[in-house]
Amino acid sequence: MQDLTTRLAIRQAEAAAHLADCHLCPFHCGPQRATATGVCRVGPVSYIASEMLHLGEEEVLRPAHAIFFSGCTATCTFCTAARFAFRPTYGVAVTAAQLAARVLRRQAEGARSLCFIGGDPTPHIPFILSTLAELGSRRTVPAVFNSNFYLTPAALGLLDGAIDIYLPDLKFGPAPGPAGCGERIGGMPDYWAVVTACIERVIAAGARVIVRHLLMPGHFDCCTQPALQWLSAWPGVEVSLLTQYLPPAHVRGDLAQTVAAADIARAYELASHLRLRLIR
Ligand code: SF4
Ligand SMILES: [Zn+2]
Repeated sequence: MQDLTTRLAIRQAEAAAHLADCHLCPFHCGPQRATATGVCRVGPVSYIASEMLHLGEEEVLRPAHAIFFSGCTATCTFCTAARFAFRPTYGVAVTAAQLAARVLRRQAEGARSLCFIGGDPTPHIPFILSTLAELGSRRTVPAVFNSNFYLTPAALGLLDGAIDIYLPDLKFGPAPGPAGCGERIGGMPDYWAVVTACIERVIAAGARVIVRHLLMPGHFDCCTQPALQWLSAWPGVEVSLLTQYLPPAHVRGDLAQTVAAADIARAYELASHLRLRLIR
């Protein structure tokens, strides 16, 4: 069995190949990554929009050292982080050594987890692995990958053994094609098939998995109900229901409202009926 340092050194080299020929998510942009012209428009350099001790994560993680990378593989119409999610060069570019130094400082300040977030952290997997390698055994808190989980098996393979806790979003329901919520609202073709397969894979690998489901107004039947139903097949998985949806000013239609209190109550009732392991 390789130790973590050896494993990370090998993974780093594999991951770096995606900076020139990217297959980290199902868009498979390939060489467009090198010129920052792929779907997410993240180039070879990772930008960090902000980092902080964050109290908004689940109780088991907080205070979390949250690192918000710029750029995202999704294009959710209701994104509240558009300022940096859709501007991949927003913020600062730092070296892995510089970020590692900040991680150690936040650890000393009381961080209980190291959370890689975005935008989405997927395009930044090479930089995340370099940072973890730089930290080595000086990191004493779990590494958390908080993502839309729209990934390829190759990307998940890079993370295997390097990430301690997966925090995937299972946001949209199973309706396929351009009219389905995952593609129509999130801009992710084959959303359900891709994301559920990725979640199944990390569960099968024995990792700790906390699945988040964001309640969206008007999406109980198409998204919340099937997502919770699907999760009931995985009794070991922890589930976090996010009920704080706030529509950004530019959003129109159903998604311009807040979530009805009745739908929040129905979601908790359904989760209880399905015996989901809810955490807050
Ligand atoms: S991570 Fe970005 S560049 Fe890489 S395949 Fe996905 S969208 Fe394309
Ligand atoms: Zn929906």
